[in-house]
Amino acid sequence: MEDCIFCKIIKGEIPTDFVYQDDDFVVFKDINPKAPVHLLIVTKKHLPSLNGATKEDQALLGKGLLISKKIAKKEGIREDGYRIGINVGKGGGQDIFHLHIHLLGGWRDKKAIS
Ligand code: 5GP
Ligand code: ZN
Repeated sequence: MEDCIFCKIIKGEIPTDFVYQDDDFVVFKDINPKAPVHLLIVTKKHLPSLNGATKEDQALLGKGLLISKKIAKKEGIREDGYRIGINVGKGGGQDIFHLHIHLLGGWRDKKAIS
């Protein structure tokens, strides 16, 4: 998608360091972190939101969760615990309409949800 920021990042048009990438996903730091560790697990396929996902995307979505777990380990937050989330639509707080999973953690002994 031409005007999509995440498609531009994936194509290398906006220089961004990837923490991880494979055939289906890229992972990079959120530009405006809401936690000590805040990464975005982003599908290479431009899917505007979870609402547009179909059965065809089932394996892709499952893979995204397993990558999230793998990245949590790589970032050293797997044992402490972490939060993953997908904002869906404007009412769900979604700003970038290209499917992505938020991975947040690193609060150490602070509670993630009070
Ligand atoms: P959403 O609200 O759509 O679930 O999350 C979009 C996230 O993308 C936000 O947390 C925002 O800070 C992040 N973001 C927006 N533009 C950029 C960018 O150009 N680079 C990076 N690394 N993150 C971005
Ligand atoms: Zn896109």
